[in-house]
Amino acid sequence: MNALTSARRLLTPLTALRDGLLDLLYPPKCLACGRMGNEALCGACREQFSVLSPPICSRCGVSVGERGGSDRPLCADCRRSAPFHFSAARAAGHFDGLLREAILRLKYERRRRLASPLGEFMAQTLGKELFAPDRIDLLVPVPLHPSRLRERGFNQSELLAQAVGEFWRVPVYPNALRRVRRTRPQANLHASRRADNVRDAFAAADPSLLQDRVALLVDDVITTLHTCNECARALTDAGARAVYVIAAARGG
Ligand SMILES: [Zn+2]
Ligand SMILES: [Zn+2]
Repeated sequence: MNALTSARRLLTPLTALRDGLLDLLYPPKCLACGRMGNEALCGACREQFSVLSPPICSRCGVSVGERGGSDRPLCADCRRSAPFHFSAARAAGHFDGLLREAILRLKYERRRRLASPLGEFMAQTLGKELFAPDRIDLLVPVPLHPSRLRERGFNQSELLAQAVGEFWRVPVYPNALRRVRRTRPQANLHASRRADNVRDAFAAADPSLLQDRVALLVDDVITTLHTCNECARALTDAGARAVYVIAAARGG
């Protein structure tokens, strides 16, 4: 037995003891309703996530009204404008109610434990048809600019990608994309400036990773999709065969 192994053997009971004491002091409970339990969100709270159900735009995933029974409805924007660099985008739910609260708490209150139930919700809701996990080669989180990453300490999209990847058993490449310049938060900008704000803001770190691969970009909330579109452009420029987008929630 080497020193490392013996240290681990000692650490494991100590860690278990520490975790046990922490559980006594701060029993694990649902971060939304406070009910005791090991999961960050209890089943009853998760059931309150508002799932985005059809009819939705087959390209950008936004809810559309009844579209006369078309198999592949398109929203007004997708019918009118130039195609995106990704093949399709889908969000698991609407950005409201408890789902919104969980995403905001993950991001701004640094409740990392919430990434697990959110990622599971994404994997279960979106892991059919279009995003059948066996059609995806790799998951790529939308990167944060390094200065924002330092501020927050983690990238919420990366945590979500890890959770989805674990569920689907698809590898995650957290560093496949990088921000090559800092952009202003899209939410603070007028709609007409958002596309310019993120144009050419991303680059693929290692094109050999992406050659002829099907990449699935992971974001927390999608709205106008300009950011995802620029990420998809960088991935396809680097040789990806196709890019899809998934998010926990769709805003707007
Ligand atoms: Zn709960
Ligand atoms: Zn659309």
